[in-house]
Amino acid sequence: MNHHVFKDLVPNYLEHLTSEETTRQMDVHMKECKDCKEYLHDMQEERISENVHVQAKEDRNVDYLKKVRSKNRKKIFTIVTSLLSLFLILILGYYLLFVRMWIADANDVQTTIQKQGNTVKLTFTSKQDNHFLLPRKEQLNQDYIDWMIIYEKRKDFSTPESLKEEINITYTFLDENTLLLDNGKEKKLTADDKLSIQYKDHTKELSLMDLYHPDH
Ligand SMILES: [Zn+2]
Repeated sequence: MNHHVFKDLVPNYLEHLTSEETTRQMDVHMKECKDCKEYLHDMQEERISENVHVQAKEDRNVDYLKKVRSKNRKKIFTIVTSLLSLFLILILGYYLLFVRMWIADANDVQTTIQKQGNTVKLTFTSKQDNHFLLPRKEQLNQDYIDWMIIYEKRKDFSTPESLKEEINITYTFLDENTLLLDNGKEKKLTADDKLSIQYKDHTKELSLMDLYHPDH
């Protein structure tokens, strides 16, 4: 085997692509030719260092991808938690502003008593522009409305038109000592007959007999 043929065959030899016979002949040649032996040796070293280099580059790429992925995960986590927090704040804010209902403070409620003929009408309005009132009227101990609690709430787009302006309660009298009940019956009034209105920190009591004389 001559040197040229040997050198041409080196790449295949290193890849183990040469036939058994060629490999044997090359081994024989190397024993006799120091030059070719060195050439093969150099080629081998070069390939190894190339492989190491390629491997290192791949490793770096993998590292970089890992970092990018981890960074992306952190970013996504931050975005998701931020959105969730914002969502919760919006819900809480909406609840506090519009859904929440509280017992009205007496100072926030304007009460007017109007008498027209034998009918006395009590009207309650919120002194705050953007608030409205909600009444809960009860007949606790009497056969007329003798107790009510006034709630206050902030107006929003869903507030019924009927509640936006005022709430009221009406009593019809036959005379100053007699109340006409809803069921058509008459009720003789005493000084104990009254309407209790519950506010946030106290209960206001209005004597029904006094209502007949609102100017008193
Ligand atoms: Zn040679």
